[in-house]
Amino acid sequence: MHELSICQSMLGIVEKTMAEHTGARLLRIFLDVGKGSTIEPVLLREAFEVITTNGPFEGTELVVNEIPLVGRCRACGRTFEYQEIALGCPECDSVDIEIESGLELAIRELEIDEDGAGDSHGGETV
Ligand SMILES: [Zn+2]
Repeated sequence: MHELSICQSMLGIVEKTMAEHTGARLLRIFLDVGKGSTIEPVLLREAFEVITTNGPFEGTELVVNEIPLVGRCRACGRTFEYQEIALGCPECDSVDIEIESGLELAIRELEIDEDGAGDSHGGETV
């Protein structure tokens, strides 16, 4: 399950960003995940929950935005959405395909509550 290590490196980036926002609380992470990236959004969210439990990002929501896998045929120039990465161009059967999008894995946005600090609420420590 490589989703776990992906989550860990993602949180590494997030932690650096949050270090610049002292006292702020991270509400949501918006993540672009290409359909050709071999990442399973469901597993990614599960891994995220496991990692963040009891940590500084507990309660943060991971919002996964799936990007369709789009290829462009170098032979005939047609742009199409992949159903199966193994298939060639639906127009001319060429396999000389350039991937235009759908392989990305990137943090698009962090939703931060700047004055989310405060010891007065949410203190349900076990
Ligand atoms: Zn073609």
